[in-house]
Amino acid sequence: MLARVPRGLRRLSQAVSQAPGAGLIDGAAAAQDIRQGVAAGAAELIKTKGVAPGLGVVLVGDRSDSRAYVRVKLRQAKQAGLHTVDVRLGERASQEEVLNAVYALNANSAVHGVIVQLPLPAHVDEKAVLKRILPEKDADGLGVESVAALRAHGAEEPAVVACTPKACIELLDRHNIDIEGKRAVVLGRSDIVGNPMAALLLKRHATVTVAHSRTPDVADVVSTADIVVSSVGRPGFVRGSWLKPGCVVLDVGINAVEDAAAPRGYRLVGDVADDAWDVASLVSPVPGGVGPVTVAMLLANTLTLARRAVVNTQRRAFSVAAHTNDEPPSETPSDIEISQRCVPRPITDVGAALGLMEDEIISWGWHKAKVDAPRVHARLGAAAPRGSLVVVCGINPTPLGEGKSTAALGLSQALGAHLGKRVVTTIRQPSQGPTFGIKGGAAGGGYSQVIPMEEFNLHMTGDIHAIVAANNLVAAALDARMFHEAKQTDQGLFNRLIPEKDGKRVPAASQRARLERLGVTGPALDDAELMSAEDRVSFARLDVDPSTITWNRVLDTCDRFLRRVETGKGPSETGFGREAGFDIAVASEIMAVLALAEDAQDMRERLGRMVVGRSRADGPHEGGFVTVDDLGVAGALAVLMKDAALPTLMQSLEGTPVLVHAGPFANIAHGASSIIADKVGLKLVGAGGFVVTEAGFGADIGGEKFFDIKCRAGDLKPKCAVVVATVRALKLHGGAPPVVAGRPLPEEYRTEDLDLLERGCANLEHHVRCLTNKFGIPVVVAVNKFADDMAAELNLVCARALSAGARAAVPCSNHADGGTGAVDLAEAVVTACENDGGAFRYLYPTSASVRDKVEAVCKEIYLAGEVTYSDLASHQIAAYEAQGLGDLPICIAKTQYSLSTDPSKKGAPSGHIVNVREVRASVGAGFLYLLCGDIMTVPGLPTRPGFVDVDMDADGDRVIGLF
Ligand code: NAP
Repeated sequence: MLARVPRGLRRLSQAVSQAPGAGLIDGAAAAQDIRQGVAAGAAELIKTKGVAPGLGVVLVGDRSDSRAYVRVKLRQAKQAGLHTVDVRLGERASQEEVLNAVYALNANSAVHGVIVQLPLPAHVDEKAVLKRILPEKDADGLGVESVAALRAHGAEEPAVVACTPKACIELLDRHNIDIEGKRAVVLGRSDIVGNPMAALLLKRHATVTVAHSRTPDVADVVSTADIVVSSVGRPGFVRGSWLKPGCVVLDVGINAVEDAAAPRGYRLVGDVADDAWDVASLVSPVPGGVGPVTVAMLLANTLTLARRAVVNTQRRAFSVAAHTNDEPPSETPSDIEISQRCVPRPITDVGAALGLMEDEIISWGWHKAKVDAPRVHARLGAAAPRGSLVVVCGINPTPLGEGKSTAALGLSQALGAHLGKRVVTTIRQPSQGPTFGIKGGAAGGGYSQVIPMEEFNLHMTGDIHAIVAANNLVAAALDARMFHEAKQTDQGLFNRLIPEKDGKRVPAASQRARLERLGVTGPALDDAELMSAEDRVSFARLDVDPSTITWNRVLDTCDRFLRRVETGKGPSETGFGREAGFDIAVASEIMAVLALAEDAQDMRERLGRMVVGRSRADGPHEGGFVTVDDLGVAGALAVLMKDAALPTLMQSLEGTPVLVHAGPFANIAHGASSIIADKVGLKLVGAGGFVVTEAGFGADIGGEKFFDIKCRAGDLKPKCAVVVATVRALKLHGGAPPVVAGRPLPEEYRTEDLDLLERGCANLEHHVRCLTNKFGIPVVVAVNKFADDMAAELNLVCARALSAGARAAVPCSNHADGGTGAVDLAEAVVTACENDGGAFRYLYPTSASVRDKVEAVCKEIYLAGEVTYSDLASHQIAAYEAQGLGDLPICIAKTQYSLSTDPSKKGAPSGHIVNVREVRASVGAGFLYLLCGDIMTVPGLPTRPGFVDVDMDADGDRVIGLF
């Protein structure tokens, strides 16, 4: 029991120069200096990379000393500008709970350093917990890898080592104590202090002796030392008489001794007795010595780890190495070659960097994972801050495409890997139709791609296959039902649909929706025996009029011969066949439902609402809609679509996260990826982050539908639209000869022609004006630069874009240069999002009549002079309005090559006629679908389709020829 105030402590409050004996190692001053350095480093990281170093602390139990240490650590971390996460668990927390807490901090990308306050309660295995901290987050330097690195002979001193020994070395350095060749004695051999201390001193070439409780003659051992480090945990243990005169003493021990005069009844002292000050040359006091520097070292370690994480997260190395080689490949490599040269990050790392927890990442091999969006929402909560939504759309393109996906990926790479912003790209899954047809893949291109591109372009995680299966199950259910209804009596049908079991007829869950729609209530919902005879017939007989069927089968192939088919040619179906058709899967209503649903539950309800046709007008149902719920197949569809309801996580060439989900075409569907992916992405990037998404084809179709259908359905408020233009497409709009896939570009495209380009800019200007004036959204124009483009041409396009009202217009070389080539674009987008003005609006109110909505889109966006309707379309619109569907938004299918419905009309044609051929009610998706002009819902294959080049390489282990 020490009653006297240690001399070291007294000296803190006195002028050091006045005291005789040893000099003071002033830890408090050193710690303050270190903390200031950390604060400056943290501020710099926030400014340059938008990343605040994050420290996560796990405290288990309620030891008052541990609580006090954690309080100090967190307070000082906050004062230095660090982001902190404080995890508290009760004394009785299980081993698993402690491990889970560490998991959560490991997976939290805002946390760069993780510590677990020791000691842990006796029932928790301390070693197992420390082992669980990711080596790259081990801020205390106590994990297996950190310790091994410290002990490795000949290796450099690691940047992050255990905080207390690091603090001791720091103090010796600050006092210019030369360690090399000195004799050092470390008292204590714990893994926290003694052992790493000895290892560090050894690294600095001291001759080190470690003494412990079994060491005989400790005093003799200590007397040989030039440097003594005591971490025994006993007050007054090291006496002055043991010490070699002039030695340096670092007192690590922290011991509470009773002191009635102290406010808490005790005070803290070290291991070193007062008389040591008379012999040594320098002594660190307790408090005010090693302790404060230890906490400062924790902050310094966290900053070091955060800096490393920023570099690793950006992963510039693997992509940049691929294209900034000193000796670039003689020929431009193909997209698939570029993709295959990169070593993708494990997808779990991409997810962890995005802030996903382990149980939110469902790996699908090494490079793809489903993201459990509902879990993410449940964890982050409804009020989680969101990032800015940026939509990339285009002008009316050439058949080669103008690089929208490439721009979206390049922009994301620039934001994430070069400007240090948190970013997620949300993009559509490509259809195998174009991949094997004319256009090729949709992963972006060049050095702005989703990788591995072959996995992205083919099958991915099977979502489109699930859609095909679900869609065709509906078609099969419909035809089979018509077949059975035609062959059976009312009673026979009813008895088979709800078979009797144990004296009851219990309807299946998937049959209830129809029962409820028919007005069946009460006990009859659980026992159909109780239904009236009339209800039984109504339930069993859908009485579908074959001429009203709007439900087509689908496939994911450009198979023109299935556009119209005759079904039922088998002997047992003869007489029951009908003329039917196929659509491409990406035009199906189920694809639209997937893209527009809020979550799996909403998707289940939308699937049930989908209309397949109508009952006979002269029958008992008087032409009412027949839905998927009526067929009793909605539950099965929800099951088939269960995995598809989750977005797929992949990565860009520069390691930024990409969420791939849904893939409706923009010409024959609504053309945007899913609301589910955008919403989870917006929360994951958080405030200050960005979700970059894409709307297919020109702003006239993809853009308009993105705003009026998708944003309305998901209550999304985009902050900026990027319009991607090419000199090539604008020359085509100015009157240059047609661009044909697979043929060399005509001369006009390879030489400077400002007149042609000037005329063609009318198309770009119209898109810019529509977005700014009709939708109230700031526009940034990205001119996707090609090798043949002349500076004067690029300047002209940018100038015209600005005069049309774009906030900025910049050439982009991200196809050739990756994210570096889109940094200007990214900066312009950041500025536009900061100043968007919040004026975003829809083009029309849904309450307007169907014809008024069609007029609004056709006249204001397509610049049509008149809209005409076929008799069929007029009839359909009247019927839909009569049935209460008039207040749905509209989705117009038309050519992407012109503002008009005639693909040959280039530039900004006006005064043309739009003819509405047919109208379908996509009740599940939530829009009316209008077919305008000559538009096919299954593309055809050209003479030499893309699939000709696709193969496996000679070794049979690599895909080649995809582009
Ligand atoms: P620990 O795990 O209890 O280790 C104590 C060490 O002292 C053991 O290696 C033990 O030897 C040795 N020892 C005990 N009695 C001895 C004796 N009579 N002669 C020689 N050696 C003896 O404690 P720790 O976690 O290392 O902490 C030690 C002290 O440092 C405590 O007071 C603690 O509060 C303090 N500490 C301070 C800081 C700071 O930031 N300043 C940080 C951490 C710890 P055996 O191995 O043979 O049992």
